Amino acid sequence: MTKKLYYDPEMKTCSAAVLDVRESKGGYEILLDQTVIYPEGGGQLSDTGMIGSAKVSHAREEDDRIWHLADKPLAVGETAEVSFDPLPRLDHTQQHTGEHILSGLAKTLFDAVNVGFHMAEDYATIDIDKPLDDAQLAHLEAEANRAVQANVPTVTRIVNDKELDSIEIRKRAKGLAGDNIRIVWCGGVDSCTCCGTHCVMSGEVGYIKITAHMNYKGGTRLWFACGMRAVKHAQETAALADKLARRFSTKQENVLEAVLKQGDDLAAAKKELRVRTDMLLSYRAADLLANADAVGGTKLVVSLEDGFAMQELKLLAEKVCTAEKAVAVLLSKAGESVYYQLWRSQGVALSMRDVSSALNAILGGKGGGRDDAAQGSAKAQEGLSETLAQFEAYMKQRMKG
Ligand SMILES: [Zn+2]
Repeated sequence: MTKKLYYDPEMKTCSAAVLDVRESKGGYEILLDQTVIYPEGGGQLSDTGMIGSAKVSHAREEDDRIWHLADKPLAVGETAEVSFDPLPRLDHTQQHTGEHILSGLAKTLFDAVNVGFHMAEDYATIDIDKPLDDAQLAHLEAEANRAVQANVPTVTRIVNDKELDSIEIRKRAKGLAGDNIRIVWCGGVDSCTCCGTHCVMSGEVGYIKITAHMNYKGGTRLWFACGMRAVKHAQETAALADKLARRFSTKQENVLEAVLKQGDDLAAAKKELRVRTDMLLSYRAADLLANADAVGGTKLVVSLEDGFAMQELKLLAEKVCTAEKAVAVLLSKAGESVYYQLWRSQGVALSMRDVSSALNAILGGKGGGRDDAAQGSAKAQEGLSETLAQFEAYMKQRMKG
């Protein structure tokens, strides 16, 4: 058994005896007779720290024994100085205590139950079994910060399982037995059985910020940050609002309105662009037809359009073949690729799928389609105009035949 000294906030270091050492994935696991290094558990992340000159990256508890993952082995029987890294410990303790305060208040204010908690080095979440709206979450956050500012001491009691039954608390872990059960009361607003580390006074949490929320399994998942994490979030959010305000040449409080207006303006402009593009393509189709040769009563339109998107090319081909009895062989060079659309009017006896195979062969391209329309692409290449002139001659022969 390892004596757990990390519950005493005054214990920053201790001297411990090495009871066992195992080679492990990622280093050596060291078992100590006592430790100030908190092992991962109860939703709280592991401390990091030192045992003598060995660096500890993680600790875990197994049957009341605490194994420390270290970068080098120590001799069994050796005595070493043990310490934890204070900043990560403070950060984990702040998030953990903040979680108590939020969960206790969610229950009191909205009868909403914490059904899941996750803490990582860069975020923490709580899952609540009820949907909470923006106003409720703002109220929860405000009350949580009131509990922080009230600077209430955390109270811890060790009880046995019989005593536990008679104590009213928000949450008790399942399967607790024996006479070493820890109950904590945090911020004057929460009580539960818990094995984590807690701020001595609720004021040490500093600041609790709910940073995001989403509907989750019929309830709410909320992201929150405490202490310096909350300060960092506030700094980043303020910097973002400031950048947006400068970009839109407006005050921060008007940024949302400006962004929404820009979105509306963009949607209107896109709509207008579609109308005008359609009009331009109609003129272009008429122009192509006016300059095209007719082969046996069917116009043959072969053209290389510059920078057309595939959808625009398709629309142009459709317009050509709708306006007159025609075959359209339209290509567009855009960046590193060449796209093509092959269309025919109704009543033209020529398979565009076959034409596509012939075009693929000379362009080294890929594509295919139906008898009335086909499309494909190839890599951009030199001499495309000349290749296309040869293909136009080939098409005339095919249409004659
Ligand atoms: Zn706790």
